[in-house]
Amino acid sequence: MQDAIKNGLEEEGILPGPLKLRRKASPYFVKAKNYSGTLKEKTLIFSYALAVGEENAAGGKIVTAPTCGSCGTMPAMLKRMYDSFDFSDHKIYRALATAGLIGNLVKTNASISGAKVGCQGEIGTACAMASAAATQLLGGTPLQIEYAAEMGIEHHLGLTCDPIMGLVQVPCIERNAFAAERALNTATFSLLSDGQHLVSFDKIVKTMKQTGHDIPSIYKETSEGGMAFFYGKKEQKSDTTS
Ligand code: SF4
Repeated sequence: MQDAIKNGLEEEGILPGPLKLRRKASPYFVKAKNYSGTLKEKTLIFSYALAVGEENAAGGKIVTAPTCGSCGTMPAMLKRMYDSFDFSDHKIYRALATAGLIGNLVKTNASISGAKVGCQGEIGTACAMASAAATQLLGGTPLQIEYAAEMGIEHHLGLTCDPIMGLVQVPCIERNAFAAERALNTATFSLLSDGQHLVSFDKIVKTMKQTGHDIPSIYKETSEGGMAFFYGKKEQKSDTTS
């Protein structure tokens, strides 16, 4: 994960593919250095998540967490926490184990596949994993950790998978940046509480599975609906024929 961030921050220019998408991680990271306070923290976490997402989009080496498309959320959150609080490697490993447990619960009881349940299963799960890990690192109780993980999925419910031209670039790369930032927010939110909450993590996983079942198939990695429709081949075809 650290290598993916490092490599992604080094690279500049255009990502492979017809979208000609310009990499953002490196310039964002440079800008972060001129900022201070909250703006700096936000820009740093965005740049880390973008770096890993761009590495994935460019065919670089990443760690699936839980998938390739959602590979930037966990590393960005962990790097931000590691740098800010100087956590030991041992604490980071324990947080990774908690994140892995959350990811496996979703994989076992629902799905982490965009093709099966939409992006809520990929970015939503990544956010839940990062939320749980961040809350644990910040001293949360098991109940607060579970609450944060639950929010990570709850607030991504219904998120569709509609990558433009079938490339894991738009909206995928930026979604990682927002999910990493959201994971810090869910951690803060749960730590403010006593951990009591209405909807359990198990219930939200079941809800996500059912929601994924109910989402029309065009929003499940077919690149036939949503942004892929309005920015992809279909729209170009209909423009040509109209
Ligand atoms: S939009 Fe689809 S391909 Fe992109 S990260 Fe989400 S689930 Fe993965």
